[in-house]
Formats: sequence, structure tokens, C-alpha cells
Amino acid sequence: TREEIAYFGAGPASLPTPVIETASAAIVNYQSSGLGILEQSHRSSSSAEIITTATSHLASLINLPSDGSYSIIFMQGGGTGQFAATAYNMLAYKAGLLLKAHNNNISIVKSKLAEMKADYLVTGSWSKKAAAELGSIAGKKFLNVAASSTDFSIPPEDAWKLTEKEKELYAYYCDNETIDGVEFPGFPAALEGRDVVVDMSSNVLSRQFDPTKYAIIFAGAQKNVGPAGVTIVVVRSDVLQNQPDADTLRELGLPVPPIVFHYPTIVKAGSLYNTLPIFDVFICREVMAGLVLKGGLAAQEQVANRKAKLLYDALDAGEGVFEIVPKKGVRSRMNICFRLKGGEDAEKRFLKGAEAKGLTGLKGHRSVGGMRISNYNSIPLEAAEKLAGYINDFVKTEK
Ligand code: PMP
Repeated sequence: TREEIAYFGAGPASLPTPVIETASAAIVNYQSSGLGILEQSHRSSSSAEIITTATSHLASLINLPSDGSYSIIFMQGGGTGQFAATAYNMLAYKAGLLLKAHNNNISIVKSKLAEMKADYLVTGSWSKKAAAELGSIAGKKFLNVAASSTDFSIPPEDAWKLTEKEKELYAYYCDNETIDGVEFPGFPAALEGRDVVVDMSSNVLSRQFDPTKYAIIFAGAQKNVGPAGVTIVVVRSDVLQNQPDADTLRELGLPVPPIVFHYPTIVKAGSLYNTLPIFDVFICREVMAGLVLKGGLAAQEQVANRKAKLLYDALDAGEGVFEIVPKKGVRSRMNICFRLKGGEDAEKRFLKGAEAKGLTGLKGHRSVGGMRISNYNSIPLEAAEKLAGYINDFVKTEK
């Protein structure tokens, strides 16, 4: 049964059982309409209500200003789609600003753009992919890898090679590297006052943060918010304004976004430019409603930190048996990556013993190996306690 299993997979993650139960009933017959939620038009009034309430829960959870300076949209294409969407929209946004400043003079703007770069902080697998996507869409000439780590750390800020602010297209980082287990402790001071794009796919809604520090925040839903298939995007309103049309972008040598990745279009359509998977948004809405009821991100942050501490403490105490992969200070609260010093055989024993206790999904990503505990919002404190207890017991049996 669901109660017997604690699933620590990296995503799609487990969802709260009450949400799954509500969703199951909604599939069969939504609000006594005689039609399931999967069968309703994305333009029906019941769908509109779902989008509106999901949006307002998210806005209240992240404390988004209500003065129209930001928009929330739901998109498809996952976090990977946003690697492209963020690049297209930020390039167009900056080109629009330059055109305005230089009387729409294409050749001046072209020469200005030739000197500009987007700064990517590459701290793991997902930011690396995002940087590569900019290179592939727009050309490597626009890419500056301002910092890069391959050893599960975040380089110190004074070692970052950021482009000077006037010549920076935008700065990009991944708040929590799901595969590598590296998380930024907070907003990087060096990026203060810049146009910052952040990937929060695997730690969104797990702690408080200031959304006004960002031009774009995005998160695939399938870890902390809902099912795979819908992606949350929060975009600052000025990014939507003055984006040049397709012909002008082409004249400037910039890529033209597919319409489904064109933020101004999606915002204008209230996320309904094309068919939105409303069921996915519904599940996100239910999860967020639960978070709001439980005291929002302040409360969730406390629980997340407590669970992460429990698990890291257990692993640290078993130092002879386990080795935590990321450096202290940047250890992710969401994805706890470690190896067994006894190698593959010990890993097999660890996984087998865990499985026997209903603790599943602990194998690390195939690209880095080892173990990974994904400590997302849906993991109850009791499950983290049970896993910490198992880690303690395992140490005893290995000695
Ligand atoms: N960014 C991060 C931090 C991720 O963890 C993932 C997926 N695990 C992605 C981006 C890519 O997301 P998707 O699979 O939805 O394209």
C-alpha cells in the first residue's frame, strides 16, 4: 500500500495521498458535472477557476508583488523547454531595450549585441545543459561560462568571471542541482541588481526567497509541486515588453522563439494560447493549497531543513561507511548525494536492506552513481526519521 512505501526518487516525486485521492475522484466525475477533469475544455469556467486559484496560491506562497510587476504562467516542455525559452526571451528583451535606446537603428544594435554575453554559472548537470542550449539556439558567441565546477561545489563568488553589467544579457543559475546534490545557500550577492534567470525545478516551494531579485524564475512541477507535464514560470513584466517582432529578430541575427515559448504571447493568453493540461495544474493547485494551509514556505522551510539535517547527521555519523559527495555549505536540502565506502557490494546491501523496509528510490543518477535521497516536500518527517534510523542501523551491521 502507499502507506508502506516511502519513495525518495528524484522526480517525478511522490505526491501527498489526499491529493492523489482528490485527483482520482476528479478524473471520474469533476464537480458532479458528469465529466472527468481530463475531458473538460481548457477554456471552460471550471478550468479558468483552477488556473486562477493555482496562480493565486503560488503568488501568495512566494510573496509575489501584486502590482503587476510579475506574471505567473503555466507552460509545457518541462525544465528543458525553459532552457530554451529563457534564452529566447532574454535575448529578445535585451534587443528590444537596445532598439529603444538607439532609435531602432539595426546596425548599432547589432554591434552592441556582438559585445554582449549571458553569464551562466555551471554548478552541475542541469546548468550545464542550460548553457549548452543557449549556445545551440543563439550561438556560443553569446555564452560566457562565468563559473564552472565539476567537483560538486560552487566556486566562490570572487572567482566568478561575470561580464560587466552593461554588457551582460542576463545571468543564469540553477538553484538546486538535482543530480549533483549542490544547492545555493541563498541568492548570490554577486548577482545583485542584474537580470537573473533561475532554475528552481527541484527546490521551489521548499524555502522562502525574494522573487523580486529575478527576471525569470522557472520550475518543472514534478518534484515539489505536481506531476510532470506542466512548468511554472514567473516572469518580470518588463521582459514581456518591447520584444522585437520575428522579422526584426532575424535582421539582428537573433533566434525567433517558437510561439509556445514566447512569453508575451503566453502571458497575454493567460497560459491558454494552446491546450494546457488542466489536470496537471489542478494537482499543483491542490498541493499548493495544502502548503498554504500548513503555514506556507516559512513552515515548509523549517520542515525541509529539519529533515535534511536528520539525514545528513545520520550520514556524517556513519563516516566510516558513507561519504557525502557535495562540499559542506552547498549540500542540497533536497537531493542528498552520497556514496558507500565499501563500493558496489555495500551499495547493493544498502539498497536491499532499505527496500525491505519500504524505503525506495534511493539509487543515484546513472551519470554520477552512488546514492541519492530526494527529500522533497511530500516526504513526511516520519519517513525521513525512518530512513535516518535505517542509516544508523546499517552502519552498525557494516562494522
Ligand atoms: N532542471 C532541474 C534542476 C532538473 O532537476 C530537471 C529534471 N530533473 C530539469 C531542469 C529538466 O526538467 P524536465 O525533465 O522537466 O525537462
